[in-house]
Amino acid sequence: NNQAGPFALLSVSDKSGLESIAQRLVAAGYTLLSTGGSAKYLRAQGFEVVDVSSVTGFPEIMDGRVKTLHPAVHGGLLAKRKDPAHMDALHEHGLANIEVLVVNLYPFESTVASGAEHEEIVENIDIGGPAMLRAAAKNYENILVVVDPNDYERGDLLEGPLSLRKELAAKAFHHTSRYDEAIWTYLVGREDGALRYGENPHQKAWLVREPSAPVLRGLKQLSGKELSYNNLLDAEAALAAVLEFDDPSAVVVKHTNPCGVASQREIETAFEHGLAGDPVSAFGGILALNRKVEFSLAQKISRTFWEVVLAPGFSEEALDELSKKKNVRLLEIPEGFSLPPLQSRITAFGTLKQEADPRIRWEIEGLEVPTKLKPDRETLDAMEFLWRVVKHVKSNAIVVGAGTRTFGVGAGQMSRVDAVEAALRGVAAKSETRPSGALVLASDAFFPFADGVEKAAEGGVRAIVQPGGSKRDAEVVEACDALGITMVFTGTRHFKH
Ligand code: 5GP
Repeated sequence: NNQAGPFALLSVSDKSGLESIAQRLVAAGYTLLSTGGSAKYLRAQGFEVVDVSSVTGFPEIMDGRVKTLHPAVHGGLLAKRKDPAHMDALHEHGLANIEVLVVNLYPFESTVASGAEHEEIVENIDIGGPAMLRAAAKNYENILVVVDPNDYERGDLLEGPLSLRKELAAKAFHHTSRYDEAIWTYLVGREDGALRYGENPHQKAWLVREPSAPVLRGLKQLSGKELSYNNLLDAEAALAAVLEFDDPSAVVVKHTNPCGVASQREIETAFEHGLAGDPVSAFGGILALNRKVEFSLAQKISRTFWEVVLAPGFSEEALDELSKKKNVRLLEIPEGFSLPPLQSRITAFGTLKQEADPRIRWEIEGLEVPTKLKPDRETLDAMEFLWRVVKHVKSNAIVVGAGTRTFGVGAGQMSRVDAVEAALRGVAAKSETRPSGALVLASDAFFPFADGVEKAAEGGVRAIVQPGGSKRDAEVVEACDALGITMVFTGTRHFKH
């Protein structure tokens, strides 16, 4: 039945504006082809319409579950017009010569939102619609595909350039991918991934697990209560930070910021020094370690209240010791664990995607020393350590430490001077426990003015590592030279928002 045509196939759930595009299609010489409800609607508006069932030679069956799923439709949507063999097949089998497809899908999301029963929701999973949209969008060089009623009145719709067809094809795929995502989200269910609550008790929350990734990315929960929304965020931050180090290291995280970090030859010392970095904030914090936990370390860990402890393993005795506390969630980091290389964040403006900030490659040759005073080996080691830490602190971020342990962290400040002050307050609080020795400071981005450096010097800082690249670098370097500070430029910035 290919005597008529070319066809424009219209099959829509949302019928708004349908007559306006139908009008334009008829005026352009298309024969309207339509499914049950859409055909009825168009006829009521006075249009002549051919039923899809007369083209397929097959009635709409199973309450509309099967309407357009037929070679007569899909052959028409997929035939390459420039390929003689495709066109022969089209004619030989009497397939519909469709050139325009107008489809929008069963209203799945609004059916879910209306509180409908499961059966009705399932019935609102459109099958034929997405199949047609994808076929036409794949074949966009030959088929014009319109999924959004807002496009019905676009001036250049029918005679538009290929770039427009491509844009509309991309839109169709975006629509079907969102559609499937909504079905996925519904089927996984809020109950399945339900969390006790969100960031605050008055916010509902749930974790939609990535179906292709192992639960919790392969982290094994060995004991403790269920992980909360904030636990998951903090655990991610702690993991990211501890994975930055090769030497035995401990990271204490509070509200997604590291507040005490240390790298030492022994994991026990790393833990002690990490905790000493900010013992007050550590209460109710998240602890991440990059070495297995043995009994004596477990005893030390259990003297503080932790929300979550992450480590690549726990000896049996350590596990017994730590599981005595029913509230502490113990997470085992699997071997070879890594965080996803791509990060996404859904914002009010759209989904943001970026490559994750990769692990720092500290190469001495790549560093610049603009100050008169040059750093010695020990200072460089401290700089590397603090540079790895500051990358994991929310901007504006300043970390002050000595050797490979932190004494003060300034996180999430709106001005860099305030960040320096916050970090120095942390250092001052440790005047008793801090061994004497030069303080080193790391800054996640350049100093826009010399004031931050001057403030740091007042607090006893003798070495600074920062990206450099400010218009006023010369002023900053001059201040360092006057104050007897050695400074290193890394050339890379590590903002974290
Ligand atoms: P109508 O109101 O015209 O009867 O149906 C239009 C709706 O049916 C559109 O949302 C379209 O995506 C959908 N549709 C078209 N063909 C099929 C099919 O073969 N199976 C299913 N489940 N839905 C279809």
